[in-house]
This record gives sequence, structure tokens and C-alpha cells, in this order.
Amino acid sequence: MHQDLQALKQRIPLLDYLRRHDWTARSVGTHQEFVGLCPLHPETHPSFYVNAAKNVFYCHGCGRGGDLIRFVQLSLNLSFRETLVHLKQQLGLPEPGEHEALWEAVDFYQQQLGRHAEARDYLHGRGVHDAELIEQLSIGYAPGGMLYRHMSQLGYPTDLLLRLGLIHQGKDAFYQRIVFPCFDGSRPVNLYGRSMGGAARHRFLPRPKGGLFAWSTVRNYPHVILVEGLFDVAVLWQAGFVNTSCAFGVHLTDTQLSQLSDRLDRTVFIAFDSDLAGQNAARTLVRRLQGGTGVNVRIVDLPPGQDPNSYFVGGASAAEFDSRLRNARCP
Ligand SMILES: [Zn+2]
Repeated sequence: MHQDLQALKQRIPLLDYLRRHDWTARSVGTHQEFVGLCPLHPETHPSFYVNAAKNVFYCHGCGRGGDLIRFVQLSLNLSFRETLVHLKQQLGLPEPGEHEALWEAVDFYQQQLGRHAEARDYLHGRGVHDAELIEQLSIGYAPGGMLYRHMSQLGYPTDLLLRLGLIHQGKDAFYQRIVFPCFDGSRPVNLYGRSMGGAARHRFLPRPKGGLFAWSTVRNYPHVILVEGLFDVAVLWQAGFVNTSCAFGVHLTDTQLSQLSDRLDRTVFIAFDSDLAGQNAARTLVRRLQGGTGVNVRIVDLPPGQDPNSYFVGGASAAEFDSRLRNARCP
């Protein structure tokens, strides 16, 4: 976005902007410096200087100076973000879209993870420690109270941030949450926030979640492991099982169901929680998969009370999980 600002300033040179707004000036000294009456305060003697090479202005009368964006802010009395929108409109550029805004939020949260040891400690505690994997899944951290300001400074309008659900009642929607972006192909479509504190452990933005997690990668494998949550996915990818996906819970949408059955040689290994709710959900899913899709289904048994995440956090190895896959039962 910083490059965007530079590009914006280059595409609208300050002198051109002023001349289009009827500023008359004469050159002084070199060809690059101009002086005229100040558009920002009433005066009869010219004291407003523009350096066209540096693309900046300074008025000796009112003492104000800066670049194009500063000038537009002062002359139209706009906020920084309103100024960006105004200038983009002048250029006929589209306003930043939803996916761009989500990308920016993902980027911001990733940077915050590097700055918050408590978030990295939490991830380690959940068995996620591989820096490459964290980068690959674009995992980040929302400290809360910082995103709104950041996005506004970059020129994202409040109504867009509200529509996306990134802010709520004037505040960041995600507060002290580990953030996993959900992608549709290469575009982020939603964010999952896992609270590190007590309240509302799971939260998504109020918009569609897209298909199965990381499906553009996982779909390439005939054998797919389906788990309940993103921390299950993370520890399995970390252990080398990158053919693992999830539906953000146990209830698959029709779209997700058809994704699982997009090839005839597919086998789905269901590795849900070993508790009663998880096992009932697995049985329901088996019925749906066998009912119309023709894919092979296996159920992976984990020790009582465990899910894939807690299994690995408890010290299980990739070899041990692999042996559970090989012993997975036909439903
Ligand atoms: Zn002035």
C-alpha cells in the first residue's frame, strides 16, 4: 500500500494538480521551482512555493507545506483516507475491493504475530511451531484495537471494513485471536479467529467461508484426511500430512461435499474428535458420502478423548499417526 501511495503521487504531480485547479505561478531560479499566491490562505503577495522535482510545496505566509496528499487534505479539509479516495476517483481508479482489504488484514495480522511473543507461545502450546508452516498457512495474530486505524490510514473506507466484518461498533472485531485466513484458490475469502482468552473461542467474519480449507492444494491427493478444526490441520501439515483439509466443523456444505467427490479414486479418511459428538458427526458424514458420491470412506480411530491436535501435542509422532491411518476402519 505504501507503493500505492508513491504511485498515486507520481501519477498526479503536485504542480499538475495545482494548475488544474487554476493556480497560476511563475518559475523562480531553476525550472523546477515555482511561486504563486497561496491557495490555502488569503494573501496579495505570492509566498506559496512548489518544488516540482521533489513534488512538495511550502508557504512562507501560513507556514504550511508537504506533498500532494497533504495539500489536498488542507485545501478540501479531508481526512487522510478521504483524500486517498478523492485522488483515486480523480484518476478513475477503483476503490480498494474486498479481497484486497482481506489481504491487507491478513498481512497486518501476520506482522503482529512476529511482535507478540504471547501469541507465538500460544501457537507453540497448540503444537504449531514450524515457522515455514506458519508462513505457508499465513497464520497471524489479532491483538485487537489496531487494525481499524491501520486500514483507515491505508485508505480503506469504514463502510467496506464494516461490510467485511473486520470492524464492529467502531472497534476491531478480532481481539486477542490467532487468525487463520481461508482461501478460495489464491484469494482470501474469510478469516477464522481462535480466541486465546475465554470468551467466544471460535469466530469467523460474517461472510461465506468458501469451500474446504486449502482445497487447491489438498485436491491433488487421491487420499484426503478430513479433520474438524484448523489446529488439527496445522499439526498434520506440520507432520507432513499436507493432504489434510477441514470444513471448519463437522457439517459439510453441499459444495464441500462435492469437492470431496471430485475424483473417482478418492478415499476420505475422517479423523474427527474421538468423543461422542465427533463420532456421531463422522457417522452422519459417512452416510452423506456413501449416499451419492461414490467415494471410499475410512474412519481413523484416535485414543479416547483425543483429536488430531491434542494427539500430536501429547507427543505422538508422524509414524504413529500413519499407523492409525493404515488401520483406519471401513464404516
Ligand atoms: Zn499560505
